[in-house]
Amino acid sequence: MPEIEKTTYQDTLAYAKQADAADPLARFRDMFNIPKDAQGNNLIYLCGNSLGLQPKKAKEYVAQELSNWADIAVEGHFKAAIPWTTYHEVMREPMAAIVGAKPEEVVLMNTLSTNLHLMMVSFYRPTAKRYKILIESDAFPSDSYAVKSQIKEKGYDPQEGLILWQPREGEHLNRFEDLEALMAEHGEEIALVMVGNSNYYTGQKYPIKEITQLGHRYGCKVGFDLAHGVGNIDADLHYNGPDFAVWCTYKYLNSGPGAIGGCFVHERHANDKDIPRFTGWWGHKMESRFNMRVDFDPIPGAEGWQLSNPPILSMAPIRASLEIFAEAGFKNIRAKSKKITGYLEYLINQLNDERISILTPENPEERGCQLSIQVKNADRSMHDGFMQAGIICDWREPDVIRVAPAPLYNSYEDVYEMTQRLKQLLANI
Ligand SMILES: *Cc1c(COP(=O)(O)O)cnc(C)c1O
Repeated sequence: MPEIEKTTYQDTLAYAKQADAADPLARFRDMFNIPKDAQGNNLIYLCGNSLGLQPKKAKEYVAQELSNWADIAVEGHFKAAIPWTTYHEVMREPMAAIVGAKPEEVVLMNTLSTNLHLMMVSFYRPTAKRYKILIESDAFPSDSYAVKSQIKEKGYDPQEGLILWQPREGEHLNRFEDLEALMAEHGEEIALVMVGNSNYYTGQKYPIKEITQLGHRYGCKVGFDLAHGVGNIDADLHYNGPDFAVWCTYKYLNSGPGAIGGCFVHERHANDKDIPRFTGWWGHKMESRFNMRVDFDPIPGAEGWQLSNPPILSMAPIRASLEIFAEAGFKNIRAKSKKITGYLEYLINQLNDERISILTPENPEERGCQLSIQVKNADRSMHDGFMQAGIICDWREPDVIRVAPAPLYNSYEDVYEMTQRLKQLLANI
């Protein structure tokens, strides 16, 4: 199969079709429901960074658990084909493979912001000398709210307790050397470094290993929010070594609106029973969980942070999605992602329109599948134009369109069509 390299990209429909024909992952598109317009034509869906598409199997797996509930009710906990008490275990290995962790380091539970709070209860342990948290200046709002509320809850001033890693004047991207400088200046005051592995606004990917080593060198705990990376960027969590990570499963992991989130706790904390944490019965060892009257005895590893028995109906679509990831193989997904996003970048550059600039880094190693496109003097009507042209993407104030070709279901033709329609829209403003 011919390799499609950047230098061979061509600005033609014939090329896009040929790239699809040569794409080893092309068949996976058929495993998803592609949204359609009123006439029944496929929409061009480039919004997997916000909500991934539905795997066709999701309905069947949800229906299976509805049937179990109807037919055997409480017996489903132990007698369903996949017993509900251990339903999450089926997903542990495929989930761990996607984030590059050992199975015991990963658990699916709650939602992202809740997991972030639970992780901070355990890994943000401020002292009078070391009580600050370092985040990206343009962190996702929920992360920023969560972090500030934790600082406040521990009795410190959130304004003073927050250190921001920000782009230089006139720039959009964060520089690692600026983080090094911040750490050199404030490292001893920082209890926790908490950043994304990809920034939601610019699509910039951050180096997990380097940030983790830097944080640890200054004695800080280090956590990552993988929301915009998981399912399209390799995180290699075990090897890279952060203390914890959290993510959602409804973006690139295609598991449905509000689907439960994921959480990673590094092996080095697996057997630490003294670590402060908020606890619930589902984190207690399975062997004695139902004896009910014994003291809390945590499951070693990430599962020890579980609180409640999980929502099976929300987990069923995740099972459908993770099966697809396992079949496709994460390395192949990342390889296609680099090529198809590279093609999108190439086509946008071919437009040669000086009103347009791409905020996302050019180096494929410093980004995932998303490109953030800034359109000078555009407003929200530009986004409405996209919707009318049958393109689903996402608009961020003041002037940025985020487009994310998802490697499992987007085609090179999608990307080609999108840029053709973008050209028409630009001709009209
Ligand atoms: C999507 C996203 C969230 C959303 O959090 P929920 O708790 O799932 O609603 C939080 N942080 C980041 C970085 C995100 O991309």
